[in-house]
Amino acid sequence: MSARLRITLWITTMMLIMTLIVLLFVIVVNNSSVANDPTDSLVDAVMANASKLVYSDGTFSWNNIDLYKRGVYCSVYSIDGTELVGAFPSEEHFTLDFRSGMVRSITVDGAKYLVFDIYTDYEGGGVWIRGIISPYDQSEIIKELLALTYTLLPVLIVFSIVGGWLVACSAFRPVEKIVNSADSISSGSDLSARIKLKRGPSEMKHLAAAFNRMLERLEQSFEAEKNFTSAASHELRTPITVILAECDRAKRKCSTKEDFLESVNAIEYQSRNMGELVQQMLSLSRLQYGAEKYPMRVSSLSEFIDACTDEFFIDNDKSITIRKEIAPDVSAKYNPDLFSRVIMNLLQNAYKYGNENGNITVKLSADKAKNYAVLCVQDDGIGISEENLDKIWLRFWQADPSRGVSGGSGLGLALVKEITDLHNGTVAVESTEGVGSTFTVSIPMK
Ligand code: ADP
Repeated sequence: MSARLRITLWITTMMLIMTLIVLLFVIVVNNSSVANDPTDSLVDAVMANASKLVYSDGTFSWNNIDLYKRGVYCSVYSIDGTELVGAFPSEEHFTLDFRSGMVRSITVDGAKYLVFDIYTDYEGGGVWIRGIISPYDQSEIIKELLALTYTLLPVLIVFSIVGGWLVACSAFRPVEKIVNSADSISSGSDLSARIKLKRGPSEMKHLAAAFNRMLERLEQSFEAEKNFTSAASHELRTPITVILAECDRAKRKCSTKEDFLESVNAIEYQSRNMGELVQQMLSLSRLQYGAEKYPMRVSSLSEFIDACTDEFFIDNDKSITIRKEIAPDVSAKYNPDLFSRVIMNLLQNAYKYGNENGNITVKLSADKAKNYAVLCVQDDGIGISEENLDKIWLRFWQADPSRGVSGGSGLGLALVKEITDLHNGTVAVESTEGVGSTFTVSIPMK
């Protein structure tokens, strides 16, 4: 059953229940008022009060009588017409002659009333009891009310059903639009299309905006996936071509052991590159899709960076001077396996793109104000041109791909960024072409 129909049915049911309750109420009130004829009520009330009067020791007591009951106002007078106690329907105290046992109709200030007097005689005196009621027949109002109810309620019900249906339709129209747009986007595979909802309830606009955000993300990841796949296959094609060529050469041309060794070395080198590339691709996708849990632990970053730097520069064929400015006792919460890749990648780049006999500085400091551990890797190598500064974080991007053949795939910095993000940190670069680069990684301290 559609939501529209449900809402309309709900409104209709509620209206019917309300109508039944109102009708029941009107009928009950009508019956009770018809049963109460004003003349009867008047006489009954006066007679009842007469029986409640108490006379003892030559005096009357009227404490028990009802001065007002069911529309009847009662008053008590002495034999000479002096008012002893009483309640009246208006300011006027109805000073007219007493006539016992007779219902009379009078008009006071333009309003009609019925008056009924009764004289109660006792030994040694008597009192008049007067009852006054408005003779206006209440059942007339009820009849009118009933007629109005009978004619108005069906109209109201029809209105509420039609109105409910229209409101439900207009509230759900945007949903149909969203569904149609989503259908056309998925059937046309056009992820760049968006749901356009100019009018409609705010909830629907939020829904459309959420859909659009989702489509945007889908489009981005789809594009990234596409680029990644084509870049990965492109990157793998080169070493595979080299390996195949070397195999061919070895089979057809190598006659000596040395020749063979040369081909095997070339194949080994390319295979290692490929292995590293595949490893990096795997790490990236695991990080991106959160496929693996990386436990974080709080430990000394100072000692860790110091050890990683020493390990990296065991081979230093370029005779680069290494400076370490590592503040002691800087701790942070990190995954050593992942963070070592950040350090190694930055050092690798500083070394790779650094000059022979150049300088590399590894700095670690604590930004206590922000509670961040800040790692800087600075080199005085070839630097990065300004227009390329934003691109270096992209996967497979290399300023000069020909250099990448000798190690490097353009995935290193993408990994650095992904790992830093996972540590809730940031990574930034400052670089001047021909002068050098400084990469800064900040992660929250413990
Ligand atoms: P690669 O494997 O090519 O080094 P990276 O993702 O680590 O891939 O770096 C991407 C590109 O950024 C590199 O190809 C290089 O052009 C540039 N780059 C990175 N680090 C440095 C650096 N320290 N100095 C100069 N250029 C750098």
